Amino acid sequence: MDGKQLLKLASDLVAIPSVNPLDGPVDGQRGEKRIAEFIASRLREAHIECELRETVPGRPSVVACVAGESEEAIWFDAHIDTVSAQGMAFEPFAGRVEGDRLYGRGAADNKGCVAAMMAALMQRAKSQARPPRTVIFTATADEEYRMSGVLGLLDSGLRARAAVVGEPTGLRTIIAHKGFVRFRMTTTGKAVHSSRAHDGINAIYRMSRVVTVLEAYAKERLGGRSFPLIGEATLSVTVIRGGEYANVVPDRCEVEVDRRRLPDEDGLKAIADLRAYVDGALQEDVGLEIADPHLSVPGLGLDADHPLPKAALAAVAAVTGQSAVGGMPAATNAGQIAAAGIPAIVLGPGDIGEAHTATEELDLNSLQQSVAVYERLMRGACT
Ligand SMILES: [Zn+2]
Repeated sequence: MDGKQLLKLASDLVAIPSVNPLDGPVDGQRGEKRIAEFIASRLREAHIECELRETVPGRPSVVACVAGESEEAIWFDAHIDTVSAQGMAFEPFAGRVEGDRLYGRGAADNKGCVAAMMAALMQRAKSQARPPRTVIFTATADEEYRMSGVLGLLDSGLRARAAVVGEPTGLRTIIAHKGFVRFRMTTTGKAVHSSRAHDGINAIYRMSRVVTVLEAYAKERLGGRSFPLIGEATLSVTVIRGGEYANVVPDRCEVEVDRRRLPDEDGLKAIADLRAYVDGALQEDVGLEIADPHLSVPGLGLDADHPLPKAALAAVAAVTGQSAVGGMPAATNAGQIAAAGIPAIVLGPGDIGEAHTATEELDLNSLQQSVAVYERLMRGACT
């Protein structure tokens, strides 16, 4: 596939909206069905075996396979959903190409990676020589929210010897990133008319004391806890809800907490530690409850000496003349794959700084280099 065809493929992918619907309905812009069907049809045209798997009804992921000498597989994964296109500075789904650049929602995160992996796989499938290991390619739904695409595939038994997860890393080999655990905390009180405020118990006042303690906890207890390449664990209160009417003392207040955890931290233990700290710091009963986490994503922490990052570094150096390992703050599918016992790295074209921005773009050079890197990894033993 030459540069023009490659850019056209990435542009076609951007022109099919696949905004993550979160918990809402799938419609013309939201959902992964159309893009998954497009990817599957392009792969089938290239005589690559593939199927759609709906791990969430109506939101398929694509699973493709090129058989190798060994049944043991190397797994290439790239997510196909995007964040919302609201507030973008230009038409988000035009797939506009100007010179060597592609503009639109998903150009960098993550359709460039999808296009590069597809192109590398097609090249591999066309070759007479079978790759040493079977190559699996998955184009997964729902990475930006619940990661149900990759989790469904892992649940159905998909396994490999190693995995390369495509995200815009500027072709840095990412061996570590944070995970997270999200949960809700509520305080309760007693509702009364605000003219008799002294007869009630204000759940918002109670929560404000909890929030102050959470801020201190984040500074004191998490500040010193760090992991190589990715720095410190963090905790943020990101949403607060409470009260309904201006003249009623509220009996309930809720916050959402986002705790970014390090690869060696357990989510439930992190919550237990926070609970103990809050209980110790509060001088009174505030009717505090902490719900079970509604989202928990493991971090990634692979040893730099593992053969997989070594193979990736060599492949990137061969193509671009330079290469480096690194870490990134945000979570990816690689954390889930690694938690299932499969060594994983994150590697792909484009700049992570472009992800989720109002002017998202991707350059052709980075795209072409990534195809060459992926193809080398597919061709070599990798691990
Ligand atoms: Zn992404």
